[in-house]
Parts: sequence; C-alpha cells; structure tokens
Amino acid sequence: MHEMSIVEALIEQVDHELHRAGQERHVVEIHLAVGRLSGVHSGSLRFAFELLSPGSVVEGAQLNITEPRAACRCRDCNHTEPIDEMVAQCPKCGSGNVLIEGGRELTLDSIELEPYET
Ligand SMILES: [Zn+2]
Repeated sequence: MHEMSIVEALIEQVDHELHRAGQERHVVEIHLAVGRLSGVHSGSLRFAFELLSPGSVVEGAQLNITEPRAACRCRDCNHTEPIDEMVAQCPKCGSGNVLIEGGRELTLDSIELEPYET
C-alpha cells in the first residue's frame, strides 16, 4: 500500500521537526493537506496512520486531513473552475488548451503539541 510509505515518511518528518525545535511534548494533532488529484486516498492514509503511529512520536495524535481542490484554467476562454477530478477539456468552451492548477499537494501543514504544563 502506497499510503504506508507516505505515513512512514510523515512520521519521520514530524520526528525531525520536533528534534529541530527541541520539543519533547506530545503531539496532539497533525494537519495534512492531501490534494484531490494527488492520487492518495485519505481513508487509506488514516488506516496506515493507525497502524504505524503506536510507539512513534505521533502515538495518540489526531490526524486532521484537508483535501484542497484543484482548478482548471482555460487558456482560450480564460474560464477557471474548481475541479475534483482531472479534466482534459475546458468545461465551458471544450478547448483542450487547459492548465490544471493545484490539487496535487501532499504536505504537512502543521503539528500541534500538547500545552505546556503550568
Ligand atoms: Zn475555455
């Protein structure tokens, strides 16, 4: 499963960020952006996370996934439309001269740590 290696890399990245920041607090939440055209299934990602997080730095953390949409921009009629799936033609004029923007990202947006004990 492709998502397993993504989550492995993600956990490594979180670990790296925590070390770099010198943090030893627990991670309570991780925010991920998974573009709708990235080919990554967020359900499988959650499943992989459940399997891989125990014993790691993200054990017990919530996985928060947003799925940014892509946009199709037509170079002929200048029409721009948000899309959820790859398109080859402009939805308005049918031209094949289109640019697909965004929607392919797979990024770790933020890491939330537990509050400092007071
Ligand atoms: Zn068009």
